[in-house]
Amino acid sequence: MFLTKRTSPVCIATLFVVLACLALVGLDSWRTWQAREDLLKEAAVDTSNMAQALAQHADQTYHEADLALQVLLEHVAEDGLGERSLQRIGRQLMAQVNELPQLHGLFMYDETGRWLVSSQRTLLTQYNNADRAYFIYHKQHNDMLPYVGAPVQSRSTGDWIFTISRRVNKPDGSFGGVVLATLSLNYFKNYYQSFNVGRRGAILFALNNGTTLIRRTVDTATTNKSLADVPIFRDYAAKSESGTVELVAVSDGELRINSYVHLRRYPMFMTVAVSKDEVLTNWRHDAYMRTIGVLFLAGVLATMGRRMVRQVKSQVRSEYEAVSARTKSDQLNATLVQLAMHDGLTGLPNRRHFDRTVAAELARQGKEKGALSLIMIDVDHFKLYNDIYGHTKGDECLKAVARAIGASRKRSRDLAARYGGEEFALVLPDCDIHGAMSLAYSVRQAVTDLHLPHSGAKSGHVTISVGVASLHPVQENDSVLALIEHADQALYQAKQSGRDRIVTYPGNLKIIDPTAPRKFAPARSRQKS
Ligand code: GH3
Ligand code: MG
Ligand code: MG
Repeated sequence: MFLTKRTSPVCIATLFVVLACLALVGLDSWRTWQAREDLLKEAAVDTSNMAQALAQHADQTYHEADLALQVLLEHVAEDGLGERSLQRIGRQLMAQVNELPQLHGLFMYDETGRWLVSSQRTLLTQYNNADRAYFIYHKQHNDMLPYVGAPVQSRSTGDWIFTISRRVNKPDGSFGGVVLATLSLNYFKNYYQSFNVGRRGAILFALNNGTTLIRRTVDTATTNKSLADVPIFRDYAAKSESGTVELVAVSDGELRINSYVHLRRYPMFMTVAVSKDEVLTNWRHDAYMRTIGVLFLAGVLATMGRRMVRQVKSQVRSEYEAVSARTKSDQLNATLVQLAMHDGLTGLPNRRHFDRTVAAELARQGKEKGALSLIMIDVDHFKLYNDIYGHTKGDECLKAVARAIGASRKRSRDLAARYGGEEFALVLPDCDIHGAMSLAYSVRQAVTDLHLPHSGAKSGHVTISVGVASLHPVQENDSVLALIEHADQALYQAKQSGRDRIVTYPGNLKIIDPTAPRKFAPARSRQKS
């Protein structure tokens, strides 16, 4: 995952807004495309159904005409071709034509093409139909199957008509003429006109040899044209029974969804075509409107998102500023605490720090019945040092002594502090008089080891006097003041007895000679001052 815990909230917010916009636009585009595909599928099913229905209708229409021919043949076979018989047959033909709206006429010709009988009121004997394609076909083909012909113009009425015919055989089986049913082009034209295939759709009814019977677009209806070079015939209807295909029409360049179906009984096929562009007109309008809506929504989302991102940004900035302000103030506080609790010259904890520590440790050791020792240190003849070497040198001397005292600390809880002026103190929790004495020696040695010259001192260098006091065990009623007082008394004693030495309290305020550092005897019992 590219989002990690460290990814900033601004990045997450921006990503969220961008993804939300993309999802909105993406989903809508997908839905729009799906709607288009559904519409096209629906149009294909509709044209296929319509082609099927129209093919059935055409098949039935031709079949009815064909049946009329078969009835005519039966009458002729039964009644013969006598004059009275022909008159009766003529009346029957007239009745049949009146009954079937698609029938334009019913006719019978003898083997020379001469008119024998027709459904017309007067028999037009002046015409001869021996030159007609259907006549020539039947003359040449001795079969009893119906022949569906190309459109022709009626000799009697001048109307365009479709034909279906059958051969008449003489009793000896030789060619005896033709019976013909003609179907009105207008019947089909009117029928197809009642179907809605859109403004740029088309209905095509044609023979299997590619001759148009009727081609209906909204404005025109053509007949008897060859479809030899028209793709829907050449590449599809001539090769398969039925199908649906998208094609650009050669005649008008229109892209159409075409469905074609062959008639069940007769060699013809029906095609229904709708313009793809027209099918998609409403969809295009809807898609356009919806896209505007979605883009508007995406715009609103993006604007609100930008505001949100800005808010997140400023929130993050404020939080960052608050955190850094807090850090700064913590640092400042720490510095202030440091300043407040430490001595500016030596860097050691100051008197305030000392007071707090000593009080806290006394309370703690009081509870735990532990030990607490205090070492008080005073630089010998320091006034003189200042006088001889100057105040600045005096400061440097104090710093060096402070460093030596600080470095002598053995444990982290031991506190070395500047008590005041040229006086220092060491607070030693959990430390009895033995430990305190040991440390006092170390401190005194450390200062001696500095070898700071002091011409005013007997030893010729800077020395310290040390007073040590200890409470062991610490009692709950022991006081800080008493402990300080004891250490102070010991220190005073050290000064009085010649300086540069360590004196312990209590008991007999034993004076320790610096020349014999190991010989000191801590008090066996505590004595309160
Ligand atoms: P003793 O051996 O009895 O302690 O003698 P002393 O001169 O050291 O003691 P006294 O108390 O008379 O003098 C202490 C001197 O320490 C006086 C003061 O000027 C000096 N002093 C105190 N604080 C400082 C400081 O911060 N810097 C300097 N240079 N001198 C200081
Ligand atoms: Mg002093
Ligand atoms: Mg002093």
